[in-house]
Amino acid sequence: MHLYLHIPFCARRCSYCDFAIAVRRTVPSGAFQTALLQEWEVRNREWPWEGTTLRTIYLGGGTPSSLSPEALTGLLTQIRANRAVTADVEITLEANPEDVTTANAEQWRQLGVNRVSLGAQSFDPGALTWMHRTHGGDQIGRAVTTLKRVGIANVSLDLIFGLPEAIPRDWSRDLRMAFALEPDHLSLYALTVEPHTPLGKWVDRGAVRLAPESRAADEFLEAHEMIVARGWHHYEVSNAARPGAESRHNLAYWRRASYLGIGPSAHSATQERRMWNVRHWEDYRQRVALSQSTIEGEEHLTAAQIRLEELYLGLRTTQGVPVEDVPSQTAMQWGQEGWAETRHDRLRLTALGWLRLDALVGTLRDF
Ligand code: SF4
Repeated sequence: MHLYLHIPFCARRCSYCDFAIAVRRTVPSGAFQTALLQEWEVRNREWPWEGTTLRTIYLGGGTPSSLSPEALTGLLTQIRANRAVTADVEITLEANPEDVTTANAEQWRQLGVNRVSLGAQSFDPGALTWMHRTHGGDQIGRAVTTLKRVGIANVSLDLIFGLPEAIPRDWSRDLRMAFALEPDHLSLYALTVEPHTPLGKWVDRGAVRLAPESRAADEFLEAHEMIVARGWHHYEVSNAARPGAESRHNLAYWRRASYLGIGPSAHSATQERRMWNVRHWEDYRQRVALSQSTIEGEEHLTAAQIRLEELYLGLRTTQGVPVEDVPSQTAMQWGQEGWAETRHDRLRLTALGWLRLDALVGTLRDF
């Protein structure tokens, strides 16, 4: 079993960000801890744990590193008091580089955090300013050094590619700088435009021209080549790791394991059911204070939905899917185009195939 905690606070909204966040100069850590633990008390009691132990805990956001160490301690201590965890439990904390001080990192490690996912995005000052990031490029290196020094074993860096050509960002240089820091894991995301974000508004009024798709594709393939040349495992379309440093929490999502998510906007899932919490912090807080359910919606999956989800998630990863789950004509065509390969009775997409992931899975909808 797996647990996700959503911590929604950020100092400002990044230009491309569509996540459920609450922009706060001062993070209400105490109020958040109280609300989350109240939800945990109810959900933990009702959740079908069936005697399992927690294998992973993921603190995502928002910016979990902006929560006070006292609140993080209160949350993790209570969760571990109520739920057994495996001896090698993976505990991930998402962090922004400016929050990684020696004192914070020490406390995170003492709490059992053994994996930090660092929102780096780029080392280029112009790109960071354009993205509304709150850190400078030099803070990324200092954060990685600090985390390694205090003994946090697994450090991941997030990088964004496919920025507009007008942004003077050198992707090759960013990749080299990222690898030079010797992280254990990289998450690589293409810039996407969501409505209601600052970027969405800039694009609407013609202030920003997006990069052509070929630029994002070239940058993705360049990253893939560097990952493979380094002996790393590009194990999911957006994720690569030193062998053995893959994110166990995210692998659980792609393998359709059950997980409980708590906090504003958090999603939970069992094999046949998905549910999600109310999105906004103030709404969430009010519901908890009134002892109302935080769950906003849920859906039961049909057999056809489960099958399509298994295909989609399987093809995202190097695990692929059983070859018999894809029409033989389709598998043959994908192989001829260089989009997929068959190994040990499993069909898996190549990097070229991952560039077309949604379209390829779309063709399987009616099979
Ligand atoms: S730090 Fe992350 S969650 Fe917060 S606004 Fe930026 S991208 Fe969104």
